[in-house]
Amino acid sequence: MPNPQDLFSTLAGGRVFTRLDMKQAYQQMRISPDSRADLTINTSKGLFVYTRMSFEITSAPAIWQKAIDETLAGIPGCIYYLDDILVVGGSQEEHDQRLDIVLDRLSKRGIRLKEEKCTFNTSEVEYLGHLISEKGLRPLENGTEQPIVFTSRTLSSTERGYAQLEREALALINGVRQFHKLLDTLPVTADQVKQARAKDPILSRVLKYSLEGWPTNGSPELHSYAKRSTELSITEGCLIYGGRVVIPYSLQKQVLSELHTGHIGMVRMKATARSFVWWPGLDRDVESIVRSCSTCQEQRNKLAISTPIHP
Ligand SMILES: [Zn+2]
Repeated sequence: MPNPQDLFSTLAGGRVFTRLDMKQAYQQMRISPDSRADLTINTSKGLFVYTRMSFEITSAPAIWQKAIDETLAGIPGCIYYLDDILVVGGSQEEHDQRLDIVLDRLSKRGIRLKEEKCTFNTSEVEYLGHLISEKGLRPLENGTEQPIVFTSRTLSSTERGYAQLEREALALINGVRQFHKLLDTLPVTADQVKQARAKDPILSRVLKYSLEGWPTNGSPELHSYAKRSTELSITEGCLIYGGRVVIPYSLQKQVLSELHTGHIGMVRMKATARSFVWWPGLDRDVESIVRSCSTCQEQRNKLAISTPIHP
């Protein structure tokens, strides 16, 4: 992740933008022999060593980011995240100079770009779910990729001052960072949550209202969401409630069964659930799974017997 100060100061004076897509390059990157030891996995068919980057490798983004850091560090007006590079200039000339340096470094490193996937010399650009222009940074309200929206209240002002822009840049980065950290702990991926969310009629309306504003008389099935509306946000097409991923109905069983692994008991299971996920009736669902599980009940009885009443 670019750091917020850099991101902000890079974007602040920008008038001409180019966005470079390295998606292809990412998957083609060869892993140097000395890094391969870390990327060996044990499968039923024996040890398997990755020699090229794959999204199956959980540390791949970090390794890639390090390589890109080494390649692009210190170029003014250039920010990047994973496979997405943004080059910004205050004038055409400045932009061209910077772009030249970026393209030169990438080619020396053997990183090739697909030209048709890049956009050159535009006055505004979409980056990390935001529309960036000389006016500043604005969350995308529509589009194929879901924007990162903090709350509907932050969308209202069109004129954004310095402080506002800086705050948004910071929130943008923190939001994406936390979201990925959160998902690492769950048995479902961002894509699964996003797809399940899109198929869920209630959550589709919640998302729509989060973007456009909530109606004063919402329907009863939306009540649990409406009363939390100020704490709901959207990251990469997924709904977030107060730092927890809102799990669509179709994935709840899977998440519950993961939480239930180890039969940790009701109190701990609830606490764990509350730090990562949320849906209406989550506590009730946890209670019912623990009550109907004989292993959990046995554990509880054992604990009751072995705990002396007078210590
Ligand atoms: Zn159990």
